[in-house]
Amino acid sequence: MRIIAIEEHFITPMYREKVAANEFRNFYLSSRGSAMGHDIIAENLDLGASRIAHMDAAGVDVQVLSFGSPGPQGFAADVAIPMARDANDRLFEATRKYPGRFYGFAALPTADPLAAASELERCVGRLGFKGAMIHGHQQGEFLDAPKYRPLWKTAEKLGVPVYLHPALPHPQVVKAYFDGYEELARAPWGFAIDTSSHFLRLVFSGLFDDCPKLKIILGHLGEGIPFAMHRLDTHARAAAERRGLKKTPLEYLKNNLLVTTSGNWYEPAFVCTLLAMGIDSMLFAIDWPYESNKVGMEFFNRLSLSDGDKHKLAHGNAEKLLKL
Ligand code: ZN
Repeated sequence: MRIIAIEEHFITPMYREKVAANEFRNFYLSSRGSAMGHDIIAENLDLGASRIAHMDAAGVDVQVLSFGSPGPQGFAADVAIPMARDANDRLFEATRKYPGRFYGFAALPTADPLAAASELERCVGRLGFKGAMIHGHQQGEFLDAPKYRPLWKTAEKLGVPVYLHPALPHPQVVKAYFDGYEELARAPWGFAIDTSSHFLRLVFSGLFDDCPKLKIILGHLGEGIPFAMHRLDTHARAAAERRGLKKTPLEYLKNNLLVTTSGNWYEPAFVCTLLAMGIDSMLFAIDWPYESNKVGMEFFNRLSLSDGDKHKLAHGNAEKLLKL
């Protein structure tokens, strides 16, 4: 069965230079890397033979690649614009060198929303990329702000999805909720809260009334949203109407949201997501190199799904959404 994994990351020398390491992050990367058996930074920098070898060993046929978090969202335009362009050009070279094995999601310099829209047009139109990935808030500003509307409209016009990926939560949240507990601010908890809250701001801002065909992808089995769908809908339905939204919260979650399996190897959460969202809204992803290809494939292989649903999850939904 063809396996397409769509939240697979890489970094660049410029990323290494600009993204500040700290004592906790160094601890996290080295302890997690040794638990998984690979060097996260080295594998992140590789867009060639080592990446392909790890894919082949686990049975991953295709990676849809995206720049690492926080990507350009962590920087002002003077850094973000050249950083995104350099990452996208490197990714384009990798997709040319390994046709059929690598596809691209664009990195976008959202510090300058119009530059981000034109970079998306360049990446989709000239480099053949299949969508974009945005790593959460733009230095503390969420992308429901009106100035980002042209960027979202560009994605809708091009017919490509935008993957909303975690980064560290808003600095005030980190301070108020996680001061002294940096581990909780990240992948174990804070990432999901930040990303799901950001997505819900997009919903309640009326983005999907302006861009009804726009598709947003959330990783990690929907960052908790499938678990909360009933409460979100019943307790916010009247408020959504009061804001003038055309549909109920549930309808946007059903129409405009897709979720992937990245790094959430937990069957109870998978079953919840499947029941809440339906298989047609789910795609396979691993989150290499922060996750192990082997562990992701073991999870996929033990899922109790019909053959038809397994094909949809493994490749069919991605082929349709990304026009592969
Ligand atoms: Zn990721």
